[in-house]
Amino acid sequence: MEKLEYEVGDVVRLKKKHPCGSFEWEILRVGADFRLKCTGCGHQIMIARKIVEKNTKELKKGLK
Ligand SMILES: [Zn+2]
Repeated sequence: MEKLEYEVGDVVRLKKKHPCGSFEWEILRVGADFRLKCTGCGHQIMIARKIVEKNTKELKKGLK
């Protein structure tokens, strides 16, 4: 997969489903670790960038 440019405010769709049923996460912080917020239930997680890259199905750019 090509390198994606992740930015705060984007929504990333991951291969793995959150227990609440949502696949989509809003990006709250980028870096070596990302902070993501589940768009389904609002749960926040810290996750390594390489895991996000490996599991991304789609990146929806936020409105600027
Ligand atoms: Zn959730």
